[in-house]
Amino acid sequence: MRRIAIAILVLLVGGGVAYLFHHNPHAATLNLGEKSSIELPMAAHILIALGIGAGLVLLAGLGRAVVQSLKGWSESRRERRADRVRRIREEGQNRLWAGDFLTAGRKLSRAAGKEPHDLETALALARSHEELGELENAQHILEAARAKHGPDPRLLSRLGNLALARHNAGAAIDAFREASAAHPESPRLLAELMGALAAEGRFHEAAAAARRRLALERQPARRERAKEDWLALRFRAAVAEKDTRKSKEELRRLVGEEPAFLPPTLELAARARAEGDVKSADRLYRDALRHGASGIVLERLAGLHASAGEPARALGTLRDTSTGATTPGPRLLLARALVAADHLDAAESELAELARESTTRATGVDIAPERDLVAGELALARGNDREAAKLFLRAATGRRTPFSFTCRHCGRTTREWKESCECGGYGTYEWSVDRAEEEGVQRTKALQVVNVAR
Ligand SMILES: [Zn+2]
Repeated sequence: MRRIAIAILVLLVGGGVAYLFHHNPHAATLNLGEKSSIELPMAAHILIALGIGAGLVLLAGLGRAVVQSLKGWSESRRERRADRVRRIREEGQNRLWAGDFLTAGRKLSRAAGKEPHDLETALALARSHEELGELENAQHILEAARAKHGPDPRLLSRLGNLALARHNAGAAIDAFREASAAHPESPRLLAELMGALAAEGRFHEAAAAARRRLALERQPARRERAKEDWLALRFRAAVAEKDTRKSKEELRRLVGEEPAFLPPTLELAARARAEGDVKSADRLYRDALRHGASGIVLERLAGLHASAGEPARALGTLRDTSTGATTPGPRLLLARALVAADHLDAAESELAELARESTTRATGVDIAPERDLVAGELALARGNDREAAKLFLRAATGRRTPFSFTCRHCGRTTREWKESCECGGYGTYEWSVDRAEEEGVQRTKALQVVNVAR
């Protein structure tokens, strides 16, 4: 095919040349200057002119090809270099993940030396310094990167966290605020701003940030957490309020809006109790119980009347709660209150009921120590000191006391109820009798599976 085309081309060109020579046989003079001139047949002149034109076109094409190949070569060189930097950076980041911060820092410094404007490298390098405790170096790197990249939210977020680590909450707040302003749709940045504000005791502003974050969270579990944070910050703002009237109003508003969130109820009741207003405290506890039986509220209610010298006043509520209860906690409280109220026979039958329940339900919950304590108090009330001592000793050497509280966020436990947890949770402590029972059920099921497998 190609050969035929070439043959046709040669024939055409040859034919054309022959044609030209046939019709232009006479000589013509081409003057190149004063004295030099070329004398050739006219057809030859035309052919030379055409040849020069074709040569120029070929030369231009060649030049373009050379320029393009040079360009491609430098581009691929740049790409190879970027690849190398990326590889070094990735190795550095991997070392960072693996916890080998020295190697990570070395690799990342190398990457940063080759590509000083790369944001990823700067972030990772700052991380490696941070992990090595070189906070000042980390800050320098981040600030230099910020000068180059402007208010990048990741950069600002790192700067804020670094400032927090250096106990400079003011700088942290500025950084988080700027980041959040650049990305107002990010709940994460708002959460960071909220945390820094709360750390500074600026609860009103923190609550405002928490509220905006709540509006942005979509996933149910995260929404739930955001709502808890918002409530907790409003509670803390209300407690920190110097004007006691305003403080009380806001606490009441919180109770009305979210009765299941206990800290405001407990705070108001504690204030009423401190003022000797047993009636208000009692009402607050009972209102809270209407929105779900809570161990801490029951305990506080029983304690309120016991310390006011009227332990019998809480009995009705304790009885109602313990009849429907699926956990032994309320019944234990009832037995204790019955002993305090001198209803010793009733207390004994509750204790017997507890002993029966814990053997029949086989939930694996060990409430024996607490039961022994109440039984010991009962024995004391009956004047049976020797029996009481025996029971108290047994309770003290028991493995676990069921009246502890567990944070539903982080699982920390505490003997005393606290409104806040070290993990940042507020009002997250729950009676761990319930949780222990769940665990017991799980443990029993696991054991059954193992036994079946055998
Ligand atoms: Zn916690």
